Amino acid sequence: MTHITRRAALAAAGAAVAAPALAQAAYPNRPITVIVPFAAGGPTDTVTRLVAEVMGRDLGQTLVVENVGGAGGTLGAQRVAQARPDGYTLLLHHIGMGTTPALYRRLSYDAVNGFETIGLVTEVPMTIIAKRDFPARNLAELIQVVRQRKEAINLANAGIGAASHLCGLLFQAAIQTPVTTVPYRGTGPAMNDLVGGTVDLMCDQTTNTTEQIRAGTVRAFAVTTGTRNAALPDLPTAAEAGLPGFEVSVWHGLYAPRGTPAEIVNRLSRALQAALRDERLIQRFADLGTAPVSQEQATPQAHRAYWQADIAKWRPIIQAAGQYAD
Ligand code: ASP
Repeated sequence: MTHITRRAALAAAGAAVAAPALAQAAYPNRPITVIVPFAAGGPTDTVTRLVAEVMGRDLGQTLVVENVGGAGGTLGAQRVAQARPDGYTLLLHHIGMGTTPALYRRLSYDAVNGFETIGLVTEVPMTIIAKRDFPARNLAELIQVVRQRKEAINLANAGIGAASHLCGLLFQAAIQTPVTTVPYRGTGPAMNDLVGGTVDLMCDQTTNTTEQIRAGTVRAFAVTTGTRNAALPDLPTAAEAGLPGFEVSVWHGLYAPRGTPAEIVNRLSRALQAALRDERLIQRFADLGTAPVSQEQATPQAHRAYWQADIAKWRPIIQAAGQYAD
């Protein structure tokens, strides 16, 4: 062996020894961006900021939350689908990942396969609410007023593909009455208009509505789960209030662009699981009417299975709701 080749061989051997340690230390070595595909101040934003803060402690890096709202969450999802798959751009999105493939004929990203799943996060009940002085005291009266006034009623949502859009679509289909939908970049800004009285109705997650309902700044008619919610114990279920079978709750998951290396996805999944065990996070979720998923659900495999099953579940329901999907 010549002098030069021996030196090269020694260097290569040294690199081989150092490489695993370096690779482990290398990710993450700078802040991670988490895209929320809705405006700041809304329910997805609230969940993301709580999770991001605790995950950041586990990962030893800041998770910077960026709001990319618009087009029912598809603009933010597109941004992540097209980002470098290096673990530094993530997406926290909700049930819209299950409904978007049925709602949009053409998207500029692959809404079915364009992401690596990291883990499910939480499942959040929704509430049917109205501006404070809406002329109805309960769900039966609300339905009566909506049936009388039809398109004169404004229903706020966060665009086609948002959970608020899905709930509104199911509500219109259930009472067979079209209303006028008013799309926002997120239900954070929509809530401001509902509190201000410039729109009439909204169906939104307890993570955005619980505090407003408690403060009396909006009027609540029902929670959209099979059982009442501990954070709002006086609020009847939709079934109790006269809409049997009206059930929808909003699952959330964390994603990376397709092609993100498995070691990075698994590292992020472990950090997510650690965040979902955090006592303060659990307490804050409970205050807002929700809870973290189990540790088994916060895994890439469980998340992917759930997401794909949800796409199959919503397609026929959305097709049947037809005219109310816009
Ligand atoms: N997640 C909400 C929705 O889908 C929107 C938001 O977070 O602002 O309606």
